[in-house]
Amino acid sequence: MSTGEFGLIDRYFKKIPGFNAAVKLGIGDDCALLDIPEGYELALTTDTMVEGIHFLPGADPETLGHKILAVNLSDLASMGARPVSVMLALTLPTVYDSWLTAFAKGFFSLAECFQVDLIGGDTTRGPLTLTLQALGLIPKGKALKRSAAKAGDIICMTGSLGDAGLGLKIAQGLTIADSATSLQRFHTPMPRIAEGLAIRDHAHACIDISDGLVADLKHILKASGVGAHLEWERLPLSNAVKHYIDTTGDWQMPLVAGDDYELCFTIPEANLSALSIPYTAIGRIDQDQGVRIYKSATLQTLTQQGYEHFS
Ligand code: ADP
Ligand code: MG
Repeated sequence: MSTGEFGLIDRYFKKIPGFNAAVKLGIGDDCALLDIPEGYELALTTDTMVEGIHFLPGADPETLGHKILAVNLSDLASMGARPVSVMLALTLPTVYDSWLTAFAKGFFSLAECFQVDLIGGDTTRGPLTLTLQALGLIPKGKALKRSAAKAGDIICMTGSLGDAGLGLKIAQGLTIADSATSLQRFHTPMPRIAEGLAIRDHAHACIDISDGLVADLKHILKASGVGAHLEWERLPLSNAVKHYIDTTGDWQMPLVAGDDYELCFTIPEANLSALSIPYTAIGRIDQDQGVRIYKSATLQTLTQQGYEHFS
């Protein structure tokens, strides 16, 4: 970009002082510098959101600022990492003060919640695209990996399921009585950082539910070489989601809808009593490959799928 690039970065993105003690040098030099404490390893993740693919043209910039940060912090949460800092690559068709102000507001209010510093990035002109890289710290060897599930583990999840999926349907035109909560769950998910830290020493495998419970659980099963059975009646459903299912018959929605950003984890039964957070047990890991879903004690077949690019 032109000389405007540097003014833009200073104006909207440079916050001094920072929140996080591990950050030794933030925005303004060719690289940022981090101090990695003795006994810890870095967890790194990146996610991109493209206008027209991940959000509609004209989407609210404050929501986008929140969401691009939230989806990345959610990946840190699912490994049991404590967030430290993020880097933001921003591609903008034009520079609108009102857009950038609102984007920065959504972004920094969530960053402050989790004491995360924006330590650098890149700013370019082009079709609206948001890319964030997030860094977190985990005590060495303690990360919750997808490959660590074991037969016999209980499958648990935080929060409730299908609210963001319902929010998406509302955003697409479905009308229900009280839509505010579901819409909020879809637009501004909260990364389950405290939950990831709380389960880290007790759980085996963990994943954040971004593409749908069944689709994401399958990643754990494949990486761990195990299978699972789920009991539909155990799924934690809000009243709004229950009402949606009662009126439409669409019982598969909470299993296949994405964007909830709750954590799904597997844990030995003996460790459940050590958990200090609310959770719901929804099934069990077993040896037989694949996911078996029981509803009214009858094996069900899913006809809907989670979200996948290039499919
Ligand atoms: P370089 O050309 O050396 O890569 P840039 O001119 O792209 O550096 O950026 C200058 C400084 O501003 C760097 O510290 C960079 O990390 C930071 N930066 C650029 N764009 C952003 C952004 N959108 N958000 C946060 N920091 C940014
Ligand atoms: Mg650059």
